[in-house]
Amino acid sequence: MNINLQKASRIAINALTPNRPHHAQWMITRKCNYHCRGCNVWKEQDQKELTTEEIKRGMDILKKLGIIELVISGGDPLLREDAAEIIDYASKLFVTTVYDNGSMAAKKIDALRNADFVAISIDSLDEAKNDYIKAVPGSWKRAMETVETLHKEGINVSVTPTISQLNLYEILDITNYFTNKGIPVWYCLYSYDASEDKNQLFRIGKSNDEFIIKDNQAMVQLCDSLLEMKKKNRKILMTNELLKILKTLFSEGKRTWNCRALRNFLVIDHLGRIAGCHIHNFAGSIFDLPKIWNSEKFNSLRETYSKCAQCTYLCYIFYSVHGSPFGHLLLAKDQWKNAKLLLEK
Ligand code: SF4
Ligand code: SF4
Repeated sequence: MNINLQKASRIAINALTPNRPHHAQWMITRKCNYHCRGCNVWKEQDQKELTTEEIKRGMDILKKLGIIELVISGGDPLLREDAAEIIDYASKLFVTTVYDNGSMAAKKIDALRNADFVAISIDSLDEAKNDYIKAVPGSWKRAMETVETLHKEGINVSVTPTISQLNLYEILDITNYFTNKGIPVWYCLYSYDASEDKNQLFRIGKSNDEFIIKDNQAMVQLCDSLLEMKKKNRKILMTNELLKILKTLFSEGKRTWNCRALRNFLVIDHLGRIAGCHIHNFAGSIFDLPKIWNSEKFNSLRETYSKCAQCTYLCYIFYSVHGSPFGHLLLAKDQWKNAKLLLEK
């Protein structure tokens, strides 16, 4: 069976198997060459990181645990010199998505040919606004060219705007612009460290008033519009369930999901430390994961996380929502789209 077919079957089977973690995000580096205003990673860089061999060993452990999707992020993961080797190894084990701020992917095309999905961050169609958000002149032009190049090269590139008050009214335009070119769009939602945990695993940054969404009604309308558009546009990579949850969050202020950190998903930092999400303290090392996954400590953390309401990171909501048996069916339906994209490749 070829590797994409194997991965497509694993997606379909695992999405229907409850009580297994599906998703891991590995922030393999804190190095970053951008200065985004909504993020502090660039101010607090750390030159220390795991070696290539350690990352490979960690990936073997994740595979055995049942992970099917691995997101490789940072910082900018493509700033690591061994990025190609890491992506190549990951792509044999997982459905692999690589994040890039738009500065590196065009220089690392050969490395990215092995990735299943490459997500490029573009926050606006307005060059000046995008460059303001990234605080790097020329970032918009570079990212737009990168998306075009990757698309032409046959790489499954998607665009991931971070929805904030600064771009809220142009999210539909961004969506139309890229999906009309056949490029899928997935969204992040502006979030910041509201953590009370001083030992937070991976600090992103304190709240920035410019970015916080104040026009809740516009957010509700956006969810409605995307739900409508999704009927005809399969390049919008959001489940209906997730959009409905967001709509309730912004219209009624209600969180209608329980967080399933350390159940359905986990994160790993550049030093190999693991946590349910990047907002809490680390709970162990990836190399001890087989011993501690079913421990009492982890079960107690799962209980704590399930009551936590400290963040609205879309990825974490996505993998929490699709955690119940019914959620697994929705995930299976949604993941089948990913499986098809893999098979088309
Ligand atoms: S948002 Fe990403 S690209 Fe921007 S500074 Fe933070 S880590 Fe770097
Ligand atoms: S809600 Fe979940 S993902 Fe968010 S901070 Fe709490 S435990 Fe982490």
